[in-house]
Amino acid sequence: MLKKEKPMKVDSPGVALIICSPSGGGKSTLISKLIRDFPNFSFSVSYTTRHARPEEQHGRDYCFVEPSEFERLVQNGFFAEWATVHGKSYGTPLQPVLDTLASGRDMIFDIDVQGAAQLQSSIKSQVSIFLFPPSRQILEQRLSKRGSEDPQKRKARLQAAYAEIEAAPMFTYWVLNQDLHTAYERLKSIYLAEKCRSKRNQALLHAVLATWKA
Ligand code: ADP
Ligand code: 5GP
Repeated sequence: MLKKEKPMKVDSPGVALIICSPSGGGKSTLISKLIRDFPNFSFSVSYTTRHARPEEQHGRDYCFVEPSEFERLVQNGFFAEWATVHGKSYGTPLQPVLDTLASGRDMIFDIDVQGAAQLQSSIKSQVSIFLFPPSRQILEQRLSKRGSEDPQKRKARLQAAYAEIEAAPMFTYWVLNQDLHTAYERLKSIYLAEKCRSKRNQALLHAVLATWKA
């Protein structure tokens, strides 16, 4: 179900890197590596009504809120986008996106395909990447090894993965997450290439030309 939030048109030299995959596809793992290696990234901390996993911290991984609070935030236009995923609500707060991108910093989003569709149409500087698991069997093994869901919830996430993978054509880049190191190198290459786009580097042109006039 696609939820329409208030129109937002954000243009910025900063990269808004949208990373999507089925649950267990490797988003959190790869995003934490990117954030460690590139301090210019801010992570978009989503709000959710699901419960925190043992290793998760409120305010760092997610803001965990009650459904009534989430609904109040929706009514107040707090979110850039929000969606129901695996039966829980998830949303991207709008103001940090505006502040981060306006300051020229880069922002990274771990969101589902519904959220990605909404941000693709509202953030001009977005770059979208879909991570593929190698197979259903490997995805199941990874989810089960992570152990964050009971078998019933894990099964539902695996079922949902099929439709999520079918949505991959809406993403600009595809990365296969088989070997973690290879996937990370590809992700990094995409980011670095996007940082070199001429449209993001107009200040460089002017700065170098200015040295001829000094
Ligand atoms: P997501 O954030 O997309 O739900 P995670 O990053 O939590 O996925 O990854 C799910 C599990 O799979 C984690 O336990 C992670 O350590 C593991 N994992 C991720 N990528 C790989 C990989 N390339 N090879 C082996 N295990 C992986
Ligand atoms: P998890 O419960 O495994 O952390 O996340 C479940 C799904 O919700 C993942 O696909 C994740 O990318 C997505 N998700 C997390 N935050 C947001 C958000 O703010 N908006 C949307 N649309 N999806 C989100």
